[in-house]
Amino acid sequence: MKHDEYKPCSQMPGCRARENGLCTALTDTKFRSGICPFYKTVERCRKDNNDNYDRLLRIGRDDLIKKYHLRRYPDVCKQV
Ligand code: SF4
Repeated sequence: MKHDEYKPCSQMPGCRARENGLCTALTDTKFRSGICPFYKTVERCRKDNNDNYDRLLRIGRDDLIKKYHLRRYPDVCKQV
């Protein structure tokens, strides 16, 4: 998605995907409920990333870790 295609987001200032008032993740930011169901803080994104990384390790899918250049964020502990 090109920068000039980003849609405005005025509801969740702490969202990981929000940059300068624009959503960098979604192509449509109008929600029926009025509240974005995809809102995630930076901390939540990092925890989810680490959980996914750990799961791939646990099930022996190092190939996917290498393929997608995944890594753990060191500032998030395993048990949050
Ligand atoms: S994911 Fe939702 S809350 Fe986050 S920037 Fe996009 S529209 Fe806003």
